[in-house]
Amino acid sequence: MAKKIASISNECVACGSCLKVCPLHAISIFKGSLAVIDDSKCVGCGKCQKACPASVIHIVDRKEI
Ligand code: SF4
Ligand code: SF4
Repeated sequence: MAKKIASISNECVACGSCLKVCPLHAISIFKGSLAVIDDSKCVGCGKCQKACPASVIHIVDRKEI
């Protein structure tokens, strides 16, 4: 089975909700811009996806990125 990873689209509103729930601290927001996921840390658990009020996070196969 392919490994999963979170992917954030550019409709992100930089609210910060996803940062607070990521157990691996894989998400960062720089100077109020889009949230960015560190692919090397993310394990595709989906917690950030559930926490995102704008529904802009999707869990995808790692190979698709
Ligand atoms: S899928 Fe899980 S590990 Fe990856 S960024 Fe979201 S909360 Fe963090
Ligand atoms: S929770 Fe959603 S809208 Fe908020 S910073 Fe994360 S990806 Fe962007």
